[in-house]
Amino acid sequence: MTARFDAVDLVRTKRDGGELTQDQVEWFVDSYVAGAIPDEQVAAWLMAAYLRGLSPAEVTHFTRAMVASGEVIDLSGLSRPTVDKHSTGGVGDKVSLVLAPLLAAMGAAVPQLSGRGLGHTGGTLDKLEAIPGWRSQLSPGEVRAQLETVGCVICAAGESLAPADRKLYALRDITATVESIGLIASSIMSKKIAEGTSALVLDVKVGSGAFMQERSRASELARAMVDLGVAAGMKVSALLTAMDVPLGRAVGNAVEVSEAVDVLKGGGPADLVEVTVALAEVMLELAGLAGDPRRALGDGSALAAWEAMVRAQGGDPAAPLPVARVAEPVLAASSGTLSHLDARAVGVAAWRLGAGRSRKEDPVSATAGVICLVKPGEDVKIGEPVLELRTDDPSRLAHATDALHGAFTIVAGAGEVRPTGPLIVERVG
Ligand code: URA
Repeated sequence: MTARFDAVDLVRTKRDGGELTQDQVEWFVDSYVAGAIPDEQVAAWLMAAYLRGLSPAEVTHFTRAMVASGEVIDLSGLSRPTVDKHSTGGVGDKVSLVLAPLLAAMGAAVPQLSGRGLGHTGGTLDKLEAIPGWRSQLSPGEVRAQLETVGCVICAAGESLAPADRKLYALRDITATVESIGLIASSIMSKKIAEGTSALVLDVKVGSGAFMQERSRASELARAMVDLGVAAGMKVSALLTAMDVPLGRAVGNAVEVSEAVDVLKGGGPADLVEVTVALAEVMLELAGLAGDPRRALGDGSALAAWEAMVRAQGGDPAAPLPVARVAEPVLAASSGTLSHLDARAVGVAAWRLGAGRSRKEDPVSATAGVICLVKPGEDVKIGEPVLELRTDDPSRLAHATDALHGAFTIVAGAGEVRPTGPLIVERVG
């Protein structure tokens, strides 16, 4: 590749608050993927981008360059409209497990190409791998066939999808440059554009357990992603949803699958159902489909699609899920009402119990996790369990318990309970 630009100039431009042209961005991304620019220069550029920000035009160029670095899946010609959902990651967020079969049961094709969890929020593939026999690796042909026959696929995004993002994300992870709105938006949307879905709903989490803790930043991220999707010809909307408290009661892998199945059977925790239904309604609208998601959850059709999806990917939906050897309660020190339960603390505890990984090559435990037996607004008596820590490795309990200091408060009078805001905070797009 001829050096059309000088990497040092591009780093300097960004360092000084300037804007890169489309040609410069394309050259920079292509050269990095080709190994023609070293990590040091790209790391310096990423830090400059993190500190100075990227213009909307730069974010668009960056996204296009990352899409163009790999394969773009062609899902045209399917008999059902394609619609996917992406969450920026929350504690206890098992919504994807319910949404994919729910929308399939209602006539959509859901191509959910996912990644693995890193940090205190779990990954959808890690959760599904708790199901005996289930496999995440599918060929493009298998994805397409399953979308026709079952209507949904949740599988690993192949190496060929936006490879530039994989390389850049790994570098961002070790250079403290992940939390940049432009870089996050382009990273997420490059993968979703390459996946080939025509419509997409983004669940942008906001609160203590989320990437974005402030609403204004979450809105900004949602707007940036919606704009990128629209520019790529997709129908896209985002919902900002609250992530101060874990979603549902289960946080972990097998325990989240089990709770998702409860929702697919028409039950499950009210907060989880509310977020799932709100996202499903937007997905139906974008896909041009009609119907009532609550009915599909209640009449067994979503559950049937779930079973078909699990079976198509080698899993046995009737097989018992693995259960942890140890269940250690965290007890209430006083009687009263739980006034809050911090999502991040619970996520970190589940992670330390083995449910999550620190490095992408680490294995995760299928059985580890935290069960929130009491949620904000619910009463508890002194000595009763508030949380239950699950693990196969008791040596992890102390470190996990450390994460939970101050994670919840019990107040004597219900009047003092901090009111929780709405779960669905805002729609963008
Ligand atoms: N998830 C992604 O895929 N990319 C980011 O940059 C952040 C979260």
